[in-house]
Amino acid sequence: MRRSAQQGYAELSHHAPDGAVSASNTDFVNSRLHINDWGAVSSIPENDPAPHLRAASSSYLNHDGMRVDDGRYKAFLQDAAAVVPQPRIFTDPLHLLAYGSDASFYRLLPKAVIKVHNEAEVQGLLRLSQAHKVPVTFRAAGTSLSGQAVSDSIIISVGYVGKNFRRISIKDDGSQVTAEVGLLGGEVNKLLAGHARRHKLPISYRIGPDPASIDAAMIGGIVANNASGMCCGVAQNTYHTIADMRLLLADGTVLDTADESSRKAFLQSHGKLASALSGLAREVQGDPQLAGRIRAKYKIKNTVGYSLNALVDFPPDDPVTILKHLLVGSEGTLGFISSVTYNTVQEVHHKASAFVLFPDLYSACDSVRHLKSSGVASAVEICDYASLRLAQQEFVSLVAELGQAQEGAAGLLIEVKGETQQQLQQRIEAAQAALQASGVRFGGNAGAPLGLESYPFRINAAETKVFWDFRKGLIPIIGGSRSVGTSMMIEDVVCPVEHLAGMTADLTALFRECGYSDASAVGHALEGNLHLVFAQGFRTPEEVATFGRLMAGMADIVVHKYNGSLKGEHGTGRNMAPFVELEWGARATGIMKRIKAAFDPHNLLNPGVILNDDPAAHMQFLKPSPPAASLIDNCMECGYCEAFCPSRDVTITPRQRIQTYREITRLRGLQQPTQEQQQRLSQMEDTWQYDGDSTCAADGMCAVRCPVNINTGEFTKQLRTAAVDGLDAAAGAASASTSSAWGSRLAMMAANNFRLINGGVPLLLNTVDFFHGLLGPRLLEVVSGTLNKWTNHIVPVWNPYIPKGAKAVSAGLSSPQASELPTQAARATQSGIPRQVVFLPTCVNRMMGPARGDDRYSGSTLEVFTRLAEKAGYQVIVPQGVSGLCCGMMFDSRGAKKAAGLKAAEAITALSLASQMGKLPIVIDNSPCLAQLKSAGLNQQELKFSLYEPVAFTSLFLAPGLDFDKLPRSVALHVPCTSKQAPGLSEKFVALAEQCAESVTPTGIPCCGMAGDRGLRFPELTSSACQHIDLPSNVTDGYSTSRTCEIGVSNAAGLHFRSILFLFDEASKPKPGFRETAKELPQQQVGQDGKRPSLTTVHEAGGAGGGMTSV
Ligand SMILES: Cc1cc2nc3c(=O)[nH]c(=O)nc-3n(C[C@H](O)[C@H](O)[C@H](O)COP(=O)(O)OP(=O)(O)OC[C@H]3O[C@@H](n4cnc5c(N)ncnc54)[C@H](O)[C@@H]3O)c2cc1C
Ligand code: SF4
Ligand code: SF4
Repeated sequence: MRRSAQQGYAELSHHAPDGAVSASNTDFVNSRLHINDWGAVSSIPENDPAPHLRAASSSYLNHDGMRVDDGRYKAFLQDAAAVVPQPRIFTDPLHLLAYGSDASFYRLLPKAVIKVHNEAEVQGLLRLSQAHKVPVTFRAAGTSLSGQAVSDSIIISVGYVGKNFRRISIKDDGSQVTAEVGLLGGEVNKLLAGHARRHKLPISYRIGPDPASIDAAMIGGIVANNASGMCCGVAQNTYHTIADMRLLLADGTVLDTADESSRKAFLQSHGKLASALSGLAREVQGDPQLAGRIRAKYKIKNTVGYSLNALVDFPPDDPVTILKHLLVGSEGTLGFISSVTYNTVQEVHHKASAFVLFPDLYSACDSVRHLKSSGVASAVEICDYASLRLAQQEFVSLVAELGQAQEGAAGLLIEVKGETQQQLQQRIEAAQAALQASGVRFGGNAGAPLGLESYPFRINAAETKVFWDFRKGLIPIIGGSRSVGTSMMIEDVVCPVEHLAGMTADLTALFRECGYSDASAVGHALEGNLHLVFAQGFRTPEEVATFGRLMAGMADIVVHKYNGSLKGEHGTGRNMAPFVELEWGARATGIMKRIKAAFDPHNLLNPGVILNDDPAAHMQFLKPSPPAASLIDNCMECGYCEAFCPSRDVTITPRQRIQTYREITRLRGLQQPTQEQQQRLSQMEDTWQYDGDSTCAADGMCAVRCPVNINTGEFTKQLRTAAVDGLDAAAGAASASTSSAWGSRLAMMAANNFRLINGGVPLLLNTVDFFHGLLGPRLLEVVSGTLNKWTNHIVPVWNPYIPKGAKAVSAGLSSPQASELPTQAARATQSGIPRQVVFLPTCVNRMMGPARGDDRYSGSTLEVFTRLAEKAGYQVIVPQGVSGLCCGMMFDSRGAKKAAGLKAAEAITALSLASQMGKLPIVIDNSPCLAQLKSAGLNQQELKFSLYEPVAFTSLFLAPGLDFDKLPRSVALHVPCTSKQAPGLSEKFVALAEQCAESVTPTGIPCCGMAGDRGLRFPELTSSACQHIDLPSNVTDGYSTSRTCEIGVSNAAGLHFRSILFLFDEASKPKPGFRETAKELPQQQVGQDGKRPSLTTVHEAGGAGGGMTSV
């Protein structure tokens, strides 16, 4: 009979050694809560088993939060300034908070955060750590879920430190890759794929580990957590695919396992450590019971404790190989990993997926057993009834009778792969045979079973994408719908596949008993790995106690009943440290303690992680999730958005903006703040002004990767609006600064007199250009730089790619007057749509011409578009009053919403008129301006399907009438971030450019950080974002669709970037005979209501890319 959580809780102590206190016999039910100055919640048990661990002490044990600074930090930091430049050592409250959390639900405040640029700096800091006995914690991308990337001591960060820790080298045939620890896992895979493409290799490779977070997690964290995902199982994780490692031991000694002289030197200098490891291996291998237990535990996924399999898998007289494998999954507690060499695994391109329903979990899990023994499935994901209920229409339509599934039904998403189409087909048949052989009934309803043929394997990529998007989207859906103030929790348990059904049923019952009605169970069934996803608050003693009860109950079920692992993928961290002994027993845990002591006798490497003296460590320093603003309250602090943010290397990231803003809001809301809290609030607000606000490009790239669609840029703009409108924090959107409404009035004045600006700026640019010619670049740089500082970043900093003034707009057919409209519209309805297109040369292109020295082309975007369009048989119309038109972005990005709204409304009116209320397509020459008009929220239904940026329009409408000849040039391409947010548009950019030039290289950066003129006023933002541009030396020039981005990337790359329309025009000629036959737009390009069909709505997604995630 299954025990209740409470019973299980009381009974859990039997694995603990005599007299030892363990997480499982600690009473949290009657605990009291302690909230520290930073809002972290700790549960202090009534029968506190280790009160001395919760008393501040200068004796630094292997636990958290109570380190008294007895002067050692001051001394450490003083000396650290000689190792790492001071600007990279952060001790201000905003940065401490920003690095005080990872993706888990723990918060520990470090004493300092140090961003390192190379191994020598890490080495210096490790030596100081030894000298001053100051603990250090390494951090990569901070996406850990078990609290292993936080510390109350010193954080050493290798993540987002410019180009540092990002070197990679790929073996010629791609079968090995050596990568430094600051590279994202996904980046390494892209580089491997690019290598295979470039060298036309028959096989392409990727790294083995495949955590769902691979595009957000860095190699350092992937190795140190031994992360894994849906397909890699236990065979292709880092432990099994690592070839070599370069690492630093606690005392700073470098060991490169690929280098024989380094190995020899290590064996000489660290003979004690080497013989300790050999001795441990000998001891374990000589104990058949222990060795057998270790082997059995690693047959399934397991990241609890150290990788003890290293002690049984390798000969005791090879301590270097043992050491290298012990470092895998050591969570930064044994040494610093500098780079790793992976034996890569082969990419298989032929894939098929089926989603099969079962009436109950047991049937689904039985089928998994058969699939596993057939060996043909590459992934099998299980979804319980709670998750099936979240399915949306597109998915429901592909899965037979999902709508009628009974309570308790379950689904399996099965993937098979083949190296050839034929092999794929064989495997599909084998998988189907295995499912049939399991003898279970299919269909979600026991009373009306269906045949297996109702659940076919699908090869069509669009259909399989629906399946996988559903699976990957489950966690975001749950995360997005949780109530404000709760954190999202993802448990990660494993058991042998044959027990999966029982364990899942027991755990879901436990969750229900504990009151978690929203919990869903999904997971990598093939590996017996289950993720339980639910929302958890830490606001009341009851909530915290329930969580304690749940953890204990879960440990009981997983370990005692099913002999499983409490963490299959996500590492031990602080979350499972108190349960290590429960899971492994005293003997194996004793071995782990000896491993730690051999590497790090003074507990200076990430103390409190994996092993923790405090049996209640998992209930300490729980992170609050206070409501702050509706736009960001859903944030799960997962860190997925960070890699796309242009400010990631220069100040802070979207996640950190949200985390720190939450704390600012919490501090503002305190009824009786202490003096220290008031002071901290004001320091955080000050730092926020530059780090949080000024260096946010508000480009929304963060939303592209965010599983719950949070656009931190929108939030920043909301704060800017509050500042411009003179609202204070309490009044509305909450501004971090105090200001008055003068900003709003000034903006309205500028908006109302826009023609003057339009006329004046070119004169100003020409004057500046005159001085550029006269005085050379240096003086202008210095003067503008000084003015920029004096005016608090109002005056832009000049660079040699600042354009000359543009000539006034002159070409094109003028738009009809309102009075002419009915006749034209009526004519269009009768005889189709005339081949006309409205073109809006945006203010930025009306004011800015080419830069000095950019002589390849002459003329404006209007002139070149008119030429290009005419070749394809289109006549170009310019809206009335063009010189006064603006999309409003320059106002919006500064938070001047009213002025922005006014300008957008004027532009929409003019465009509606010119396009005969949206019947003619409209091209906006600057991509960000198009996005601005689309998001202006003016309900311009008539223009909904008519607005295009240049690439989409050329691809859809002009290309059929053009012949392209490849120019003998190597060109660069920069897709602006607004275009990247439109599904499929980046690919169109590349595809069209590749028709125009012999070689095309994208800049490869997510966003250049220009954000209108922000990158000129804060040039460090753009240079930081653009430092990752890496173009071949033969590239002659570059193309884009955003004039301001073109300035930024030109300056960074040292090449002229300009509108891609010039490239299209130069490389194209009219298709013979096309113009004569195409006098009107074909009728099928017009929807039933006379408007554009959705086929053409390339910007319809509006930037919310809706990145998906799973675990
Ligand atoms: C939504 C979501 C989904 C996830 N899905 C998965 C999943 O499917 N599978 C999975 O395994 N994990 C998953 N994770 C957890 C996490 O993303 C991975 O474990 C990832 O590998 C952590 O990498 P990181 O770069 O963020 O490392 P961090 O969190 O920065 O660090 C991880 C650990 O490594 C240590 N470390 C970092 N760099 C070094 C170094 N250079 N030398 C020594 N130690 C170092 C740190 O001290 C820490 O203990 C998920 C997380 C989220 C938020
Ligand atoms: S904004 Fe989105 S992606 Fe970024 S940390 Fe929050 S939830 Fe994750
Ligand atoms: S809007 Fe851009 S700069 Fe601002 S947080 Fe998002 S990605 Fe970063």
